[in-house]
Amino acid sequence: MRIILFGPPGVGKGTQAKILSSELKIVHIATGDILREAISRGSELGKKAKTYMDRGELVPDDVVIGIIQDRLKESDAKNGFILDGFPRTLPQAEALDKVFEKAGIKIDRVVSMEVDKNVLMKRLTSRRVCRNCGSIYNLLVDKLEDSKCPKCGGELYQRDDDKQETIERRFEVYQKQTKPVREFYSKKKMLVEVDGIGEIDEITKRLKKALK
Ligand code: AMP
Repeated sequence: MRIILFGPPGVGKGTQAKILSSELKIVHIATGDILREAISRGSELGKKAKTYMDRGELVPDDVVIGIIQDRLKESDAKNGFILDGFPRTLPQAEALDKVFEKAGIKIDRVVSMEVDKNVLMKRLTSRRVCRNCGSIYNLLVDKLEDSKCPKCGGELYQRDDDKQETIERRFEVYQKQTKPVREFYSKKKMLVEVDGIGEIDEITKRLKKALK
């Protein structure tokens, strides 16, 4: 199965993509994760991406399109994948169409997760991520006794782009550059909407229903 998980920052794409990837046994490909990994390795790509990410801006299309083209060629993507955080602009969506056309494959579903902006703001400022295993927590929901990951003991940190001012910028960028992608798939009748408010399990159930 080939899925695009779409939605604004903080809607829960990463959390749900991890669950669906393990349940459906398809690889989870998140451009944000790939870029953060490049930053922590200190690679040239990471250095370039960081300047944009710290400001809440999008990394240039040619960079992310190149990343996705390479990643989709890897053998673990042959059985299907779940794309999280890509495409985020119309040129990215068009480039993805070309990649699929060339490979003779199709996207099965584009699922758009929908949540009100005020809720997203609260979720993002209280999001914490494990530096070791990448698990995502929310200070408002998860009872964390200290700043360690309950799963692996790794250090929990707040993403630099989850600070208030950067979040505002990310929302503006979403409205201006990413929202048109929703329209792009909606016109092609590929888009299914899913309410992103509720317990994690409940949302997973809704997503699975939308994928049937
Ligand atoms: P995310 O983890 O998906 O919230 O992404 C974090 C940041 O990485 C974004 O705010 C962008 O700066 C960058 N990024 C991730 N995916 C893309 C993409 N498809 N196009 C451009 N920038 C991206």
